[in-house]
Amino acid sequence: MTSEQQILSLRKELQVHNHRYYVLDHPTISDYEFDIKLKELQALEAAHPEYDDPNSPSRRVGGAVTKNFETIVHTHRMYSLDNSYSKEDLQDWKTRIKKLVDGEVQYICELKYDGASMSLTYENGELIKAVTRGDGFQGDNVTTNVKTIKSVPLKLTGDYPPLFDIRGEIVLPWDGFHAMNKEREALGLELYRNPRNTASGSLKLQDSAEVAKRPLDCLLYNITGNNLGIVTQMESLDKARAWGFKVPSVSKLCNSIDEVLDFVKHWDTARHDLPYETDGVVVKVNSLRQQEELGYTAKAPRWAIAYKFKAEQVSTRLREITYQVGRTGAITPVANLEPVELAGTTVKRASLHNADQIAKLDIREGDTVFVEKGGEIIPKIIAVDLTKRPADSVGTTYISDCPECHTTLVRKEGEAQHYCPNDSGCPTQIIGRIQHFISRKAMDIEGLGGETVALLVNEGLIANYADLYTLTVEDVLPLERMAQKSAENLVNGVQASTQIPFERVLFGLGIRYVGETVAKKLAKHYKNIEAIIAATQEELVAVNEIGEKIAESVVAFFTKAENHILIQRLQSYGVQLAISADKLANQTDVLAANTFVVSGVFEMPRNDLKKLIEDNGGKVGSSISSKTSYLVAGDKMGPSKRTKAEGLGVPIISEQQFLDMLV
Ligand code: AMP
Ligand code: ZN
Repeated sequence: MTSEQQILSLRKELQVHNHRYYVLDHPTISDYEFDIKLKELQALEAAHPEYDDPNSPSRRVGGAVTKNFETIVHTHRMYSLDNSYSKEDLQDWKTRIKKLVDGEVQYICELKYDGASMSLTYENGELIKAVTRGDGFQGDNVTTNVKTIKSVPLKLTGDYPPLFDIRGEIVLPWDGFHAMNKEREALGLELYRNPRNTASGSLKLQDSAEVAKRPLDCLLYNITGNNLGIVTQMESLDKARAWGFKVPSVSKLCNSIDEVLDFVKHWDTARHDLPYETDGVVVKVNSLRQQEELGYTAKAPRWAIAYKFKAEQVSTRLREITYQVGRTGAITPVANLEPVELAGTTVKRASLHNADQIAKLDIREGDTVFVEKGGEIIPKIIAVDLTKRPADSVGTTYISDCPECHTTLVRKEGEAQHYCPNDSGCPTQIIGRIQHFISRKAMDIEGLGGETVALLVNEGLIANYADLYTLTVEDVLPLERMAQKSAENLVNGVQASTQIPFERVLFGLGIRYVGETVAKKLAKHYKNIEAIIAATQEELVAVNEIGEKIAESVVAFFTKAENHILIQRLQSYGVQLAISADKLANQTDVLAANTFVVSGVFEMPRNDLKKLIEDNGGKVGSSISSKTSYLVAGDKMGPSKRTKAEGLGVPIISEQQFLDMLV
């Protein structure tokens, strides 16, 4: 097989497996086998840029960055839908339709997926464009980002028309949404409110590699175009499925509005078990000929109507507003409610988010409030029932001092949240920080849990994470429910954590915005804590993927004297504050300030070669530019790379010449 044939066959194969996994939910090979094949394809593509294909399955990982999204006018306008809320509304709709068309009318019911609407354009079976709804007439070109969504087919199968648009909804399933929030929680970041906003926000991220990491899904429901040879909506759903699109199987053909209402009734409860959010049912006239006869109003099709599920809502009394302090000092106001049943759970509390939210709702203790559980996971207060406001009610004054330590709160310019600045003296922050330090992804201390940490702090045995290393069995034995064995386990667990690698220690320090990935980057780049402490904000920003906000936070952390003392103490207890010696043995700075582009096939695996570059201080670039220092050329490198390098005067070196640079 020639390389070209190999590339084409791998692409085909990966496309099939992708479809089985993400659309049919029925994989036939393991993730590992898939990865191997993908790596194989990536290597071949890198060696043969002449066979480039913007719709290759390898493009799913993203990488391209969009600074400004281009505006694109929709070929066919993207309409909104009229809403209905009752049986009567649906009957009225039916009466209007019957006046405008002849013959029997069949309806098709689909779920109304709650996400970001999207129009995809396919030409000759290839995805060429993905555009957001925007104002219905024109939207943003988000093709690069949408390509990373695995259930969006980049190439179609079967007898698709040469050119058409297909509309659907980009959604973020609950599982993925919760996983993303869990990660944010671990980083002490504000949680995403609901899947819909998170999904549409994701489409506007500038870095498509970030979008690729988000577990987005694309559900399709409508094909538009000319001369498509389709006669019913049901048929178009079947066809879309056959061409490779993800079309949910929930849809039902109905002969009467009563049947439609049965469907609505069923899904009003059953929707709570779906993997993604729905906010209603869309009822459409099934015959496309009748659809055409009915046409559109200024805003929406006459042939379809949305039936909105009622967001479950109750009213209850607000007993008290309390304030919570998070690990990073962020203050969250909480509404403590008279317990009330809502969507199958008892609600006692609701988040009020921040001072602005309280002011906006003019919410006061003693008020009767409306609580709703819509798409959000945490119930929210949507309004105050002013008719029930007690005569002696007084406006809410937001707290000015920390409820835990009474320090005056601060609020940074442009931020919604208030913070308690007393990180070293505020008990909740102290406990939260130590709990983060011992957590699984940080120091992973066996034999010590979150509750024990609180106990240790409250008993005055520890006040920071460095104190953990001074604990003895005798110290902890008197604690409640602490036996000899568990006391020993605790002390041994703390000792064992001195072997945890530097990058995880760095994550465990709890510097705001320094999550696992950032900690890894910093550890790798600076190699030890002294170098990080010495780094200025500008230097930090120069490190790949370290943003302003992170840099500022790192500098602020190390500006504090008490943090210096903590670090010194950790060091004296033997905690790893530098990359270990054997890791370092293979690392040098000889390639510092050089960017290498690697192309072709080499003696050693490509990834090893790239790792060598990075381990020795160099950077690996993806394409040749005037900034490239060297092109490392392997066998079978494409001619275009050579021409480009020569054109720009970039030196071309062999694998051996590269290795010689290292000694
Ligand atoms: P609205 O945004 O409330 O005007 O509702 C109209 C939107 O519902 C459409 O633009 C679509 O994005 C979305 N939608 C979700 N599911 C469907 C579906 N099955 N059929 C048609 N539109 C849908
Ligand atoms: Zn405080």
